[in-house]
Amino acid sequence: MNIKPKYFLYARKSTEDDDRQVMSIEAQLFELREIARKENLEILEEFQESKSAKTPGREIFGEMMARIERSEGVGILAWHPDRLARNSIDGGRIIYSVDTRKVVSLRFPTFWFEPTPQGLFMLQVAFGQSKYYSDNLSDNIKRGVRQKLRRGEWLNRAPFGYQNNPRIRNIEPHPTNARIVKLAYEEYAKGSHTLVSLSQFLADLNVVSSNGTPLAKVSIKRLLTHRVYLGFVKHGDEWFDGNFEPILTPALFEAVQKVVAGKERPRSRKVKHYFPLVGLFRCGECNGMISAQWATNRWGTKYRYYRCSKKRGRCSQPYVREADLADKIRARLQTISLCDRYTDWMLNKVKIWEREEVGASQSEVQNLSVKIKADEERMEKLVSAYLDGDVPKHIYLTKKDTLMRSLAALREKLKDFERGRKNRVEPLREWILDMKQADFLYTSDDLYQIKQFVQKIGTNPMVRAKSPHFGFPPPSQFAASRRHFLPAPSAAPQGGAALSEREVSICGEGGI
Ligand SMILES: [Zn+2]
Repeated sequence: MNIKPKYFLYARKSTEDDDRQVMSIEAQLFELREIARKENLEILEEFQESKSAKTPGREIFGEMMARIERSEGVGILAWHPDRLARNSIDGGRIIYSVDTRKVVSLRFPTFWFEPTPQGLFMLQVAFGQSKYYSDNLSDNIKRGVRQKLRRGEWLNRAPFGYQNNPRIRNIEPHPTNARIVKLAYEEYAKGSHTLVSLSQFLADLNVVSSNGTPLAKVSIKRLLTHRVYLGFVKHGDEWFDGNFEPILTPALFEAVQKVVAGKERPRSRKVKHYFPLVGLFRCGECNGMISAQWATNRWGTKYRYYRCSKKRGRCSQPYVREADLADKIRARLQTISLCDRYTDWMLNKVKIWEREEVGASQSEVQNLSVKIKADEERMEKLVSAYLDGDVPKHIYLTKKDTLMRSLAALREKLKDFERGRKNRVEPLREWILDMKQADFLYTSDDLYQIKQFVQKIGTNPMVRAKSPHFGFPPPSQFAASRRHFLPAPSAAPQGGAALSEREVSICGEGGI
């Protein structure tokens, strides 16, 4: 049985720009003392410092480390690794003290740390954040992505027609939707459809947008040109051989490409610019908007870059290439992502609490869910029967309409129930789902989607010295009301990892 170590508590905030979003020293101390009190941690001494951690040589930090190096088996409690160190020398000193067992516990309320080589690596990354994290982590992500591509894995959510199969860590054709994709291609290959009429054709097969309307033309176009149906995976502008089953034959795909190209109206000369990350960031120096431009390098390659619009006068910020900016955003997303192992476990936990809170109305909700599921299955069977030609169109459409209305009514009722008990677990669930999405986005090359995500949950996004900065709020409303979420180590998922609602874990995966 371990004896609880005694802790040194360290709080730091510099007056530099970089720390603008960081809690004040007083607030850090308050939070850390709270944690110590709740978890019964004995504090040996408190240290506070208002210096930057970017270069080694902080006095107070040095004093603390000297104390640590003279003692045996102590712990350090700090708000986040970047409070302790932001350069590789100070970071290395801490890592070394962990290695030599001078420090046996590192606690950060905003950063979950596992005492394994991988955990230490991630800690090193967090310490070196300002430099190391932007240089190397994105390389590691790229390496991870390349590895997945080599294995022919589809990196993101399955496109329509496919479904994710976590067991094989890849996608596979969906039994009904894959048939619908094929049918849509066969229809369009005839040459008599417009994008709008094909959208209606798909709506008849219950393929609609999330708000129930027929798909937009741009979605139809994407569907008709998506090479995933040939079994390819895409990364950046390159296609690779996938390791999953194609839905279409090359002949059918090419036939449709011909029709699509033939219908393409010659574009007006005006070039439509594609600047996916524009409108997201402000300049960290002058607070002007970051705008985008095309440039050509000396080999004649065109590329996009972003820079401060300088609408507010003088500004010395350099430009940054889109690829670099995107890599750093992904690296940042990775630091807040939670891998499925944890999110699934946490979501399960949330579900259990929800059930506790719901109590009596649960049976009614369950009833509704069962009915909805049954209706959904009926719908799929109906579509499938119609595709087989077993049901004439007018009967199919009537039946489909009845089912759709029934489903809409059931879903509305379920929503009412859930609205009625607008429960306290919802913010936490949202937060978990956000972290889950971050996990899937940090390997994504859909920059629009990445931008939307950062807009949704990032705070104060800005670019300074070619690097993106933005904060992520912890699920704090929840943290206040649900202290007992801190599970005992035995309740943690395999691997003995204790998670709390305010700890963001980094799951080493994909090449790291
Ligand atoms: Zn500026």
